[in-house]
Amino acid sequence: MDALRRAAGLSSDTALRPERFGALAYDFDTRRLSFIRRRSQAQGALNDEFERGLDAPICLTWELTYACNLACVHCLSSSGRRDPRELSTAECKAVIDELERMQVFYVNIGGGEPTVRRDFWELVEYATAHHVGVKFSTNGSRIDATRAEWLRGSDYVDVQISLDGATAEVNDRVRGVGSYATAMRALSLLAGTGAKLSVVVTRENAGQLDAFKAIADELGATLRLTRLRPSGRGADVWDELHPTAEQQRAVYEWLLAHGEEVLTGDSFFHLAAYGQTLPGLNLCGAGRVVCLIDPVGDVYACPFAIHETFLAGNVREAGFAPVWRESELFRSLREPQAAGACGSCSMYDACRGGCMAAKFFTGLPLAGPDPECVFGHGERALRGTRPTPSQDHSRVRVVRRECDESPV
Ligand code: SF4
Ligand code: SF4
Repeated sequence: MDALRRAAGLSSDTALRPERFGALAYDFDTRRLSFIRRRSQAQGALNDEFERGLDAPICLTWELTYACNLACVHCLSSSGRRDPRELSTAECKAVIDELERMQVFYVNIGGGEPTVRRDFWELVEYATAHHVGVKFSTNGSRIDATRAEWLRGSDYVDVQISLDGATAEVNDRVRGVGSYATAMRALSLLAGTGAKLSVVVTRENAGQLDAFKAIADELGATLRLTRLRPSGRGADVWDELHPTAEQQRAVYEWLLAHGEEVLTGDSFFHLAAYGQTLPGLNLCGAGRVVCLIDPVGDVYACPFAIHETFLAGNVREAGFAPVWRESELFRSLREPQAAGACGSCSMYDACRGGCMAAKFFTGLPLAGPDPECVFGHGERALRGTRPTPSQDHSRVRVVRRECDESPV
């Protein structure tokens, strides 16, 4: 590793993780991931390496709880009530110890609302002390001035505030009355800390991208746009909230115009079929570079695929590493995938058939077009029966206002 580090001109502050092709490097200062190939390794695209799977995930989402003080209509994990089988503090720390041994550079913590766990900040501190950076998503309700100052001084913790409308009217229809004001207050407290403003693009807010960018710029935040997927309660609102074909085209043009200044993860690679590749991860990384640990320790291929079909194992059995490295599901996802009906599409190399979870939860075959295929092939195929989610933690009575009570 030292030879690779010297050859790549990396400082000793950059974390290096050996991989079969050489190494992955993560700079905790710039949050940049880079890919270092040994001279002896055959040349090939980064995506090809990612498709064959890595020794440890680069995008590990960990939902710490299904408890939430909001009830967003599109919640990917149908959150609301705490699951009594939730991992204990000691079990969470054991997971972090393992992630440190595996050199997982950082975890994306979510929920539910992760900050409602009483041990949330203790776990964040434990992770960073063990060289696992933390990026956590929150609705902002537990961010006060003291916590904002603490976050300002924390080098290895990134915060992401969720907002699904650039106005209270649009946001609160999706996330609940009062949630716009809460998120904006948190963003203001976090101004200048490098926080992210995270938006799920819907039919209602697709026309507000400039307004979201203006909010982010004004508060010194980075805008992150993600795709609405029909997962969890998102399945219930997919038909009315997923962007229209015209809106998708407009989102694509907008993303092209804004390039690297807006983060998107792997959200919009299906739009590359319009002609140009967008910045971000341009493949479905489920089970290859992406996975989810849910609040009870179940490991799924992706945070948008909480269904028994995509369940690879549980960390309570023998830990996380054996699930990631040896589970039958993940091994099969790392094999070349059939293109199915997309095989004859001239844009398959760009779009690769789109998102596995979006196909699954709209009842489409996994080998075939995405429901939002830019040529409309997915939409025409949408006739099948849709699978029902394996679990639902929604509260029985939908909360229209934020509440102060602990849902734990
Ligand atoms: S299933 Fe969809 S959301 Fe999940 S990793 Fe693949 S493309 Fe991303
Ligand atoms: S047919 Fe398949 S590969 Fe072609 S654009 Fe549609 S989803 Fe993408």
